[in-house]
Amino acid sequence: MMTTNFSQDCPACSRKLYVRLAYLGRRVACQHCQAEFVASEASSSNAPATLWRESLVQRADDLLRRLDLQAEFA
Ligand SMILES: [Zn+2]
Repeated sequence: MMTTNFSQDCPACSRKLYVRLAYLGRRVACQHCQAEFVASEASSSNAPATLWRESLVQRADDLLRRLDLQAEFA
């Protein structure tokens, strides 16, 4: 029998979620609170680190862009 899901606690509402292995390293939305986060299997080290890092950089980039906009309006 193959495991096609892994469990992860939602970083926003802390509820347990079952995420498909296919979504590992991808952006998913919590079924309970709709918070978006990158699926990662915390208990194992074989998560795709490059994907994880890319999405972090992307998120930081978005944040910086947002801060730039706010600075212009200030
Ligand atoms: Zn949630």
